Amino acid sequence: MIAVIAGAGPAGLTAALELLRRSDVTPIVFEADSLVGGISKTVNHAGNRMDLGGHRFFSKSDWVMKWWQDILPVARSNSHRDMATCEPSCCMRSKDVNSNPLAA
Ligand SMILES: Cc1cc2nc3c(=O)[nH]c(=O)nc-3n(C[C@H](O)[C@H](O)[C@H](O)COP(=O)(O)OP(=O)(O)OC[C@H]3O[C@@H](n4cnc5c(N)ncnc54)[C@H](O)[C@@H]3O)c2cc1C
Repeated sequence: MIAVIAGAGPAGLTAALELLRRSDVTPIVFEADSLVGGISKTVNHAGNRMDLGGHRFFSKSDWVMKWWQDILPVARSNSHRDMATCEPSCCMRSKDVNSNPLAA
C-alpha cells in the first residue's frame, strides 16, 4: 500500500518517516518547491542563510520535541561565537533540554 503526501514541509516529512517506521505503507512525498522543508527551511540568498519562518523548532508537546531532538540533536555550544556557526536546524528549543546556547 502507498500513501501520497502533498508537501515536504515538517508535517509531510514527519508523516512519511512515521509511516516508514510504524507500518508497511510506502509514503510518496510530492513537493511543489525545489527544496524540502516548507516554511521551516533555511535558504541561501547571495551567500546569506535566511530562515523563511522560525529560527528554532518549538512545540508545547514534549513528545514532539523529543521526536525532533532524536533526529536533529541539539548542538553543544558554549559561546556566542559557536552560535554563529550553528546550523539553524540544530538550534532547537525545549523547556526540558539545556539547549539555549546564549545561556551558557
Ligand atoms: C514567520 C514565521 C515564524 C515562525 N516561527 C516559528 C518558530 O520560531 N518555531 C517553530 O517551531 N515554528 C515556527 N513557525 C511555524 C512553522 O514554520 C510551521 O509550523 C511549519 O513550517 C509548518 O509545517 P507544515 O509542514 O505544516 O507546512 P509548511 O512548512 O508550509 O510546508 C508545506 C509544504 O507543502 C508544499 N506544498 C503545498 N502545496 C503543495 C502541493 N499541492 N503539492 C506539493 N507540495 C505542496 C509547500 O511548497 C511546502 O514545502 C513560524 C512560521 C512563520 C510563518
